[in-house]
Amino acid sequence: MTDIAKNLSEVKKRIEISAQKSGRSADCVTLVAVTKTHPVEMINEAIDLGVTDIGENKVQEILEKYDKVKKGVRWHLIGHLQTNKVKYIIDKVYMIHSVDSIKLMDEIERQAEKHGVPEIKILIEVNVSGEETKFGTDFEGLDEMLEHAKELKRVKVCGLMTILPKIDIGVSNRLHFHNIYNKFIDISKSKYDNIDMEFLSMGMSGDFEMAIEEGSNMVRVGTAIFGERDYS
Ligand SMILES: *Cc1c(COP(=O)(O)O)cnc(C)c1O
Repeated sequence: MTDIAKNLSEVKKRIEISAQKSGRSADCVTLVAVTKTHPVEMINEAIDLGVTDIGENKVQEILEKYDKVKKGVRWHLIGHLQTNKVKYIIDKVYMIHSVDSIKLMDEIERQAEKHGVPEIKILIEVNVSGEETKFGTDFEGLDEMLEHAKELKRVKVCGLMTILPKIDIGVSNRLHFHNIYNKFIDISKSKYDNIDMEFLSMGMSGDFEMAIEEGSNMVRVGTAIFGERDYS
């Protein structure tokens, strides 16, 4: 077995155990394999091993890899998206995880219309950890975005996404996951128009088990599958 095969089966096992701890089956959790910085050969190997969803954080990298990666896989944009770059990926990605402003939502709507994309799934990125990362909205901004989404025809809000600081793995991160899960459930119950709280994207290599235990149903895992990234 190759490293990727071994790692992937290990990650799937861990997903299954955490899902069981939260009273669910592994099928309830979508694994997004985060392929940023990794070559197309590794991505295609992962697809051959059954990976159905891949995550990239840069528009430019999606464009470079797009034609060389096997067809049929779903592309997720998980990194910050600048409004002026929406046009490049609007017809390529299955889901945008990192939408954190009304301005960005509006641009996604505009580009979807322009490119004839009937529906584009987005997640709203929330930042509740008070972390210094500049991306993500607080709960107040989230409510405004949900309200605004009612007016959009092509943008489909289908959940929430969050990134927690790596260094603070422990009680407080668990509490953040827990609070976001509660918000996710509240929104699901409140029956906003045009909003379908289907996905809660939280959990990365260092914390996906905790995230799943706290209710995540979509994890974005890179290092645990592909090894350390080389940014040089
Ligand atoms: C890189 C990245 C991940 C994956 O991180 P790992 O620690 O390698 O699993 C997940 N989410 C986002 C938004 C990322 O940029």
